[in-house]
Amino acid sequence: MEGNPLAGDTVVVASASGEALGRAAYSPASRLRARMWTFDAEAAVDAALIAGRVGSAAARRNGLCSITDATRLVFSEADGLPGVIADRYGDSVVVQLGSAGAERWRDVIADALFALPGVRCMYERSDVDGREREGLKPRVGTLRGEEPDADTIVGERGFRYAVGFTAGQKTGFYLDQRDARAAIATFAAGRTVLNAFSYTGAFSVIAAAKGATSVTSLDSSGPALAGARRNAELNNVEAGEQIEGDAFAELRTLRDRARSFDLIMLDPPKLAQTEAHVARATRAYKDLNLLAAKLLNPGGILMTFSCSGGVSDELFQKVVAGAALDAKRNLRIIGKLGQPSDHPVPLAFPEAAYLKGLILEAD
Ligand code: SAH
Repeated sequence: MEGNPLAGDTVVVASASGEALGRAAYSPASRLRARMWTFDAEAAVDAALIAGRVGSAAARRNGLCSITDATRLVFSEADGLPGVIADRYGDSVVVQLGSAGAERWRDVIADALFALPGVRCMYERSDVDGREREGLKPRVGTLRGEEPDADTIVGERGFRYAVGFTAGQKTGFYLDQRDARAAIATFAAGRTVLNAFSYTGAFSVIAAAKGATSVTSLDSSGPALAGARRNAELNNVEAGEQIEGDAFAELRTLRDRARSFDLIMLDPPKLAQTEAHVARATRAYKDLNLLAAKLLNPGGILMTFSCSGGVSDELFQKVVAGAALDAKRNLRIIGKLGQPSDHPVPLAFPEAAYLKGLILEAD
């Protein structure tokens, strides 16, 4: 290394032979020592470049406006802005800055997002785990404009969801499960439904509205289940049965009580936080899918997900196949799900892919 760059400074990244490869933000405290801004070593990394990237990332999401006002405007490396996440909920934007480089350009990023048409409030939720690894302190609060409403209501494909982004998980709503929400709408009619890891019940609301005969929501978080009751009310459907508890135990209890369902959604949190946890996470995924397969009625559908980046599509499919085998169930893939269009995966940065889902049909 040449010179004495500080955290967040722009540095030139060079190959061992001295050839300049591009420019990056320096993060001395992180395992990712440099986060690339550009592979053009001549390009200036300045306010115009950062603001321009924010603007074009947001513009690429315009097409989604016809179905939703809840979108991810900026998805980190996938939009050329490593460490920057920005989510739009109606007239509010929630930003997470997770790297020293993102932190350095905080004001430019905030101004560019606040300048987007119709943005009334900008809120910062820079309390993600990644920040610690970058040596940054957590920061939460209003960044530009008005104070947020306690409860922002978003609309997606005719449904309404309350998003408490000042207190919720992630930035308050699982934007990345938009395609799953659309799929559930096509499978729910006439079925008994179990939504395991329901969070605030987005899947449950859709299932109930689309003609499920019963809906059971299971989550370990009381506030999440309270959110699910609120979302049911907002959409004039019954909240249905709610089970508060650990899914690993509660799925067993359901099985012991000989309960069964026609449609099961299994959407656990990230079970492998890093590559080092993949082996253990694999056992947990297997356990969950085994229990779910046993709870599935003949002809039932299992929608099963993993949002662990370290677990590949291939590995996930293998694990679920092993679970089905152990449960003595014959399951067929009738669809695959993944990240929606506002969570793109650059061909040159496959690490941006993390979410995968299988839609399985039982004999
Ligand atoms: N499908 C949901 C998102 C699920 S997020 C949606 O589309 O909105 C994962 C959820 O799992 C969180 O709500 C979290 O509270 C819950 N959770 C985490 N660990 C759990 C456990 N061991 N048992 C049950 N729920 C758990």
